[in-house]
Amino acid sequence: LTETEQEVIDEIEEENVDFLRMQFTDILGTVKNVSVPASQAEKAFTEGIYFDGSSIDGFVRIQESDMRLDPDPETFAVLPWRDDDEGATARLICDVIDTSTGEPFSGDPRGVLKSAIERANDMGYQVNMAPEPEFFLFEEDEDGRATTVTNDVGGYFDLAPKDLASDVRRDIIYGLESMGFDIEASHHEVAEGQHEINFTYDDALTTADNVATFRAVVRAIAAEHDLHATFMPKPIARINGSGMHTHMSLFTEDGENAFHDEDDEFNLSDTAKSYLAGVLEHAPAITAIANPTVNSYKRLVPGYEAPVYVAWSDRNRSALVRKPAARVPAASRIELRSPDPSCNPYLAFAAMIHAGLDGIENDLDCPDPVRENIYEFDAEKRDEYGITTLPSNLGEAVEAFEDDERIKSAMGEHVSEKFIEAKSQEFGEYIVEVSDWELDRYLEKF
Ligand code: GLU
Ligand code: MG
Ligand code: MG
Repeated sequence: LTETEQEVIDEIEEENVDFLRMQFTDILGTVKNVSVPASQAEKAFTEGIYFDGSSIDGFVRIQESDMRLDPDPETFAVLPWRDDDEGATARLICDVIDTSTGEPFSGDPRGVLKSAIERANDMGYQVNMAPEPEFFLFEEDEDGRATTVTNDVGGYFDLAPKDLASDVRRDIIYGLESMGFDIEASHHEVAEGQHEINFTYDDALTTADNVATFRAVVRAIAAEHDLHATFMPKPIARINGSGMHTHMSLFTEDGENAFHDEDDEFNLSDTAKSYLAGVLEHAPAITAIANPTVNSYKRLVPGYEAPVYVAWSDRNRSALVRKPAARVPAASRIELRSPDPSCNPYLAFAAMIHAGLDGIENDLDCPDPVRENIYEFDAEKRDEYGITTLPSNLGEAVEAFEDDERIKSAMGEHVSEKFIEAKSQEFGEYIVEVSDWELDRYLEKF
């Protein structure tokens, strides 16, 4: 056993842990887990946990189904909502190994992110990420099912009593802190019932693990308050949806921020600008991965602080990429505003990293920032500024991903194919549905 593995074994003892949940995510971002008695911990570290990969979405066919989970000891955490007198449950996030080759399984999203990070490492960079996941809290009905009745009518930065959620938010924060999160701030978001909790930036892998954990903690603790937390991007029409803005920067091996340049007008280095240019260039393909549901595109419309146009800005929030003001050099970063919290964070981060690195490798030119409100531009003015639009539905996004050879191949054939297949099917199912909107509009008219 390694030192960290031994520490985990000791902690299992100290914290009275009875069960270990071995976690990983499928291609669609759903967290899967296999539970093992804590007595198996040592064996799990030395031999791994074997499971049948054919029953996991987007993994493998029946005839090639033997997979192994290798738990990452760094990810050990006791689940705060399962910690009582009877003993605790802890989780370990795992890498998925293909037993036929002994290599990381190419369909494991965490593995896909690891290889994007490796590409950055090979170029001499560490990748830092900080996401801003937003979510809604809804009432439950008598049967405990989610409704779309928000639990309050608060707005941006409102305080109690209007913000009835501050108790829930406090409990969520305690839960997250007990699992090792460093919480920077939390606030009521613009829409009624909408919230945001921010945690400190970290390396890309840890941050993706954190997003998966965050969603689980928020849902579990909201449920203890008889509320349903949802990360669905646009649960209610005509008010703000939920985004997951993602801040990113590259650090050099000696801990300098490679995105910072004191002398630049925007404090952005050439490296940062090429990275930004790569993100803009591959924005449509990133959108497929970072906005992977039919509903995601109901959020990406003008007027609700969500991006629609492919441009960047050092000022306004109508652009796809924003350069936030930074008080210290280490904080120079760019913020991609399109991702939403329904995405698979491992795949979304991998797509963003590959896009940015592609920009650096090909020395792409960064366009000028757009400082006006782009929502107010007409098509002609957008043309004049060279501003394109993001895909307007899941079908278009998947096509854009299919057409983007560089991102597709960087993500690996297995994941790309499975993703395209699953998402084309999802969009195909949606497109034949007849919605309430159509019935309201046409049933009596024609
Ligand atoms: N909720 C907005 C969105 O859909 C973002 C609001 C904000 O700037 O935090 O992205
Ligand atoms: Mg926000
Ligand atoms: Mg933001």
